[in-house]
Amino acid sequence: MTFENTLAFARDFDEHDALKAYREQFHFPQVNGKDVIYFTGNSLGLQPKRTQKYVDDIMKDWRELAVEGHFYAEKPWWDYHERLARPLASVVGAKPEEVSVMNTLTVNLHFLMVSFYRPTAKRFKIICEEKAFPSDQYMLQSQVRFHGHDPANAIVAIKKRAGEHFWRTDDVLKTIKEVGDELALVLIGGVNYYNGQVFDMAEITKAGKMAGAMVGWDLAHAVGNVELKLHDWQVDFAAWCSYKYMNSGPGNASGIFVNEKYLDEVDIPRFEGWWGTKKETRFQMKPEFEPIETADAWQVSNPPVLSLAPYLASLELFDEVGMSALIQKQKKLTAYLEFILKEIDKEVESTFEIITPEARGCQLSVFLHGEGRPLFDYLMKKGVIVDWREPNVIRLAPVPFYCSYEDMYRFGHILKKGILSK
Ligand SMILES: *Cc1c(COP(=O)(O)O)cnc(C)c1O
Repeated sequence: MTFENTLAFARDFDEHDALKAYREQFHFPQVNGKDVIYFTGNSLGLQPKRTQKYVDDIMKDWRELAVEGHFYAEKPWWDYHERLARPLASVVGAKPEEVSVMNTLTVNLHFLMVSFYRPTAKRFKIICEEKAFPSDQYMLQSQVRFHGHDPANAIVAIKKRAGEHFWRTDDVLKTIKEVGDELALVLIGGVNYYNGQVFDMAEITKAGKMAGAMVGWDLAHAVGNVELKLHDWQVDFAAWCSYKYMNSGPGNASGIFVNEKYLDEVDIPRFEGWWGTKKETRFQMKPEFEPIETADAWQVSNPPVLSLAPYLASLELFDEVGMSALIQKQKKLTAYLEFILKEIDKEVESTFEIITPEARGCQLSVFLHGEGRPLFDYLMKKGVIVDWREPNVIRLAPVPFYCSYEDMYRFGHILKKGILSK
């Protein structure tokens, strides 16, 4: 594809963008009286305009019906979560019964580890990526210690090669082979939060299963961003948050995937609560737990409906547009941003190094040689919302739902001015 670094070119692309109407469906913060250029939808997605109504509806039902809202609200609360399963399943490539929404991400990873990390004296090791998201590291270490193993021995972190900024699939596959019958679990972030790399989830899952291990994925940066086929890949379990690319609001509820082959395992080790037991008999308040035959069996508490409402609003947007249209635009928009960065790089002294590999979704991580924190501060002041990671990496996520080609052009213009005016 040939691009041009001109406003007319960018506007022409926006004009022909099949998703252009969706930008209007989101609230943008303002800086200097103008909508910001928002590159941090990988951290917290923008608020869809329709979300307010979904929350207001719950408040109204609560106000007018109080406890009766559980059964008589327009969208009854007691099974509100079931509305999310179908659209969410199509985002992650699962069957609706393999998906549920509950708790928050790290909490769900812990809960899923109860079922899927059951180390023995011989098979107890976990493979993850080096420098995994800190919460995942703490989660893994504490799980390993909980089972009486030593994290230094039990956790095998896949390293990047010297001088490289990405993980090689070959290195992951080789490590899986080496750890072999000591391997209990492979648990990696499907899209790395730092460099934006998309792991080869299909190949790695296959290799992990061949080695006799469980394979789970943390999809925080993958869900709503890249193509997922959790069911077809035969992934054992996965979890994700909903506030990044899924636009459901700060700290909001997490989704889980449990492969259908475990859904009729009545005796699977699991921490249970009353919302995991069958609906039909739940209110008989009997002591026996009868697991629901879906991923809902992993639900513990009654659903936080005020959290689920924004998630449902957002899922309806995903359902309308579909992942394939989003991914199509994402590829083009990210490629345009890459082009703009390279053009600016030619025109200024400093050099940007894009450390995101080819296997990428909607994120470019840019190493700024010779630039530092002042450039970041300048961009923020100019209404370009980016994210800064030490030592000097900015992460840019041009989210296809609401970012435009003109945003990319304007960003390049602002960036160049900032560097030249130093
Ligand atoms: C964002 C993110 C988290 C956040 O976890 P919470 O429990 O939602 O706070 C965890 N892991 C990864 C890989 C993330 O990107």
